[in-house]
Amino acid sequence: MARWEKVQNDGRIGIVPDIKVGMLTPGELAAITEVARRFGERIHLTAGQRLIILGVPPERVEEAKNALQAAGFGVGTSGAVVRNVRACPGKEYCKNGLQPTLDLGRQLHERFTGWELQRPVKIGISGCPNSCSEARTRDIGIYGVPSGYKVFIGGKGGMKPMDGRPLKIVKADRAPELVDVVQKVLDFYTANAGKRERIGDLVARIGFEPFQEAVKGRVVMVPAIAAEAKAVGEA
Ligand code: SF4
Repeated sequence: MARWEKVQNDGRIGIVPDIKVGMLTPGELAAITEVARRFGERIHLTAGQRLIILGVPPERVEEAKNALQAAGFGVGTSGAVVRNVRACPGKEYCKNGLQPTLDLGRQLHERFTGWELQRPVKIGISGCPNSCSEARTRDIGIYGVPSGYKVFIGGKGGMKPMDGRPLKIVKADRAPELVDVVQKVLDFYTANAGKRERIGDLVARIGFEPFQEAVKGRVVMVPAIAAEAKAVGEA
């Protein structure tokens, strides 16, 4: 479940405001800074483009959350949910950008962030193959190419990193279809994965082809895969 708080090792709380595509206006940053100044100790910039207000005493958490909400921020993400969508500045700001990222990233964030799943799903979108948002190590990664957007699935970092595999190219003039592609990948994953499987683990177990068929709209749930997933989850 999407939530605001992360319990620190000293029992104090880190509070995570919702930030879309790693972008803030100066006013928004000032508002977060003010909440941190009143209730916390430091602000941590995470590798996933989140800010965490660290050092909030447990008895002041509600007050701090209310202050963030009053400043227009929603609940950030942690746990087994679709996490905040990570984005590079894309063609809007970067001289290397081949495709824009920010509007699409916001659309993906608003549609999917906070969805409860078997395991965390991390999504990243970059404006070119330099992939500054690390498309190849996201569960669902996207980067711009001259003709449009290339979609990868199954990447992850952590102790057993995996490289994402290319799933599809969506033409630039059909960019809104990316939302539908992500929806189909998540639907297939939700219906078929075990409790412990990230998307890359599911690809490793069943192969890549079922995801390709899912994205074509041909399959959502494969009973044999889902039954086996139950065993994976309970193992
Ligand atoms: S991925 Fe490309 S467009 Fe995005 S910041 Fe890096 S170089 Fe620029």
